[in-house]
Amino acid sequence: DPQLNTNYTFENYIEGDCNRLARSAGYAVAAKPGGTSFNPLMIYGGVGLGKTHLAQAIGNEIKRNMPDKLVIYVSCEKFCQQFVDSLKNNTINDFVNFYQAMDVIIMDDVHNFAGKEKTQDIFFHIFNHLHQSGKQVILTSDKAPKDLAGLEERLLSRFKWGLSADLQIPDLETRIAILKKKMYADGIELPGEVIEYVAHNIDNNVRELEGAMVSLLAQSTLNKKDIDLALAKQMLKNFIKNTSKEISMEYIQKLVCEYFEVPVDMVKSQTRKREIVQARQISMYLSKSHTKSSLKTIGAFFGGRDHSTVIYACQTVEDLIETDKKFKAYVNDIQKKLKMS
Ligand code: ADP
Ligand code: MG
Repeated sequence: DPQLNTNYTFENYIEGDCNRLARSAGYAVAAKPGGTSFNPLMIYGGVGLGKTHLAQAIGNEIKRNMPDKLVIYVSCEKFCQQFVDSLKNNTINDFVNFYQAMDVIIMDDVHNFAGKEKTQDIFFHIFNHLHQSGKQVILTSDKAPKDLAGLEERLLSRFKWGLSADLQIPDLETRIAILKKKMYADGIELPGEVIEYVAHNIDNNVRELEGAMVSLLAQSTLNKKDIDLALAKQMLKNFIKNTSKEISMEYIQKLVCEYFEVPVDMVKSQTRKREIVQARQISMYLSKSHTKSSLKTIGAFFGGRDHSTVIYACQTVEDLIETDKKFKAYVNDIQKKLKMS
């Protein structure tokens, strides 16, 4: 089918908690189009979260296993345009017959039906015809059916018949997996810390995540040189805001306290509780190595202490890094997080 993008397959669709239900429902539908209770199957979620990819993966999977099935993928917008054209050209019967002859219809972005009453009427009839004949309907939308404004009630009630499954923003691990998949597909290998940097910093949308990766891969081919973290930060300035922001003592304090689960303001207090002292000393040590602040400024920031306290803290941390493996791992972890920001 010319309408289906053959790159949008289940194989290329990374599974995570963010899409597990939608993905497995999609898979079930692909195995038995029209033969499950997931009819219609409605996939919903925000921009760039993989609705089109998943909906088309179902279509591609059906075509792969059942080449005789008539599968149509159409965006809601295009459907509306075709309807208007068919009114103008007096070909409305052809239009309706074409869609009613399908075994599977995949309609993308049905929120775009809002306000288009005549097109909704036509689709209502097509939907009923297909559904009654045991044909499969797959829909995508930016909202759950109950939240779709501007759609006729009778159409909405149909949309609620089957299963609605949402797509969420992928968690960090899934984002890393998506990036790795993309990277291997392009046959270029970027260092792990670059992948992690991108996955850490682009956390709202898969399309942007991929965009950043595509941009890195393209630049790496053009420049014929290996991309390290510093270069990646440079290249992704347009994708990631605050890339060049300086690391502040506030930020170090926040990271360290989050890491050890101690209240942020405690490191500035006079307490000598072991875990607070540890967080304070590590904060001072990292402030010395990652900011341009003087020993005096660092001491003053962390609870009005003098510069000899900072020297002592740095010495203590350095000694512990030498002698205590666990401690060394803690500091490395925090340093890694600092570098990601
Ligand atoms: P939407 O239709 O929700 O706006 P798309 O389906 O167009 O989003 O997805 C945006 C991009 O992200 C596409 O290139 C798609 O292949 C990719 N993508 C989204 N989710 C995943 C995933 N789970 N695994 C791999 N790629 C994904
Ligand atoms: Mg889409």
